[in-house]
Amino acid sequence: MMREDRKKKRILIKLDNDAHKSKSIQSPDFSVISLKCQAKHYEWGKKGSSSFVGQILKDQGTTIDEDKPYAELWMGTHKSGSSCICGLSPGLDGHSLSDLFIAFPEFIGDMNIFKKYGHHLPFLFKVLSVGKPLSIQVHPDKTLAGQLFSSRPEHYPDPNHKPELSIALTAFSALAYFRPHDQIIGFAKKYKKFGQLLGSELLNGYENSDKPNRQNWLKKCFASLLTKKPENIIATIKDLVNQANVDTGDETLRLFKQIADHYPDDVGTFACFFLNHIQLKPGQAFFIDVNQPHCYLSGDCIEIMACSDNVIRAGLTPKFKDVELLCETMTYKPKRMEKFLLEPIRNNDFTWLYSPPVDEFAIEKIEIPKGKSSGSQFPLHRLHSASLLIVIECESGSINSTALKKSRVYFLPPGLNYSLSGLRGRFLAFRAFIKQ
Ligand SMILES: [Zn+2]
Repeated sequence: MMREDRKKKRILIKLDNDAHKSKSIQSPDFSVISLKCQAKHYEWGKKGSSSFVGQILKDQGTTIDEDKPYAELWMGTHKSGSSCICGLSPGLDGHSLSDLFIAFPEFIGDMNIFKKYGHHLPFLFKVLSVGKPLSIQVHPDKTLAGQLFSSRPEHYPDPNHKPELSIALTAFSALAYFRPHDQIIGFAKKYKKFGQLLGSELLNGYENSDKPNRQNWLKKCFASLLTKKPENIIATIKDLVNQANVDTGDETLRLFKQIADHYPDDVGTFACFFLNHIQLKPGQAFFIDVNQPHCYLSGDCIEIMACSDNVIRAGLTPKFKDVELLCETMTYKPKRMEKFLLEPIRNNDFTWLYSPPVDEFAIEKIEIPKGKSSGSQFPLHRLHSASLLIVIECESGSINSTALKKSRVYFLPPGLNYSLSGLRGRFLAFRAFIKQ
């Protein structure tokens, strides 16, 4: 379907789906297309140029407000923030990537990929800069997402599931998946005030339940916590913060206090006793499947997810909470951290593949150390699908005949051969694509 001679062809496009306004354009080069991507200013984002997202915008020439949070950069075709074409030609610049896929369906991928996903990228690619804990959340599976979208579209904006993969760019900290049950009950015994909040009935319930019923116990425990009276929650948080101030060597209490400092009256603070605490170094990754509770705490990361914005929230947020639904939806099976950390597969000397167990996406990391970058060509994998490339570090260099710049995002049409050359300094980029 893809043809290399496309760049020489004169093509009639109907970017606004209106035959009268159709434009006939001559594209200078269709092999690499620069994108302008939207930032989201959620209040949990890092502020100004301390934010990785803010820094990317600054590098692109945008003036940054140092008091404003820069939480997310969206790369893709999601209707709440589709990326736009820039620097290509006056006829195309400013049009969304979605428009481009409608005009040129072959840009999505080969016929199999187009048949499966149509005119939209099935993934949403992001950079996140987390300044304070995000909400405790789960993402629904496809069946539930469909039901929620049709019954409550004001809270659940699309019918899609949202498994997500995160790769740390800086030291990154998060809570994810339930801890082993014995750890949770261990905390309830160790931190008396937390145990008292849960109540003796629940604590005895654990002792009296056999292993197969422990998930049920955990569900009761979590649901009971989320529905406690606010005054009891606030008082217990205060007690535990006081304890943390005295017992400064206790890592879990320190984490509790770190969350409580931002949310001194929010029941979500107790999530650190229930969910695994992950601390990633740059390049390390983890995968969050649907129905699994998680909460990002701090740091910057690359994130990719199925193209959806469906979030069921329970705490640590001023946004809409759906506690009952969250408790019903969640998977209560504990998972140890090593089971959801995602080890990349080394493809060659300079690329690593992050491939989670979903159809919609995978990410390739391209990393070339300073001493090895100059004087060589670095051929990238030929893909059958559209791909988006974000350049994190690059002094200078090019991809095919297009100059590459740090902090820029590029759309690479499928079926073409790409090669990096003329690199100087360390090179680091991430390329998101539809799984082949
Ligand atoms: Zn999430």
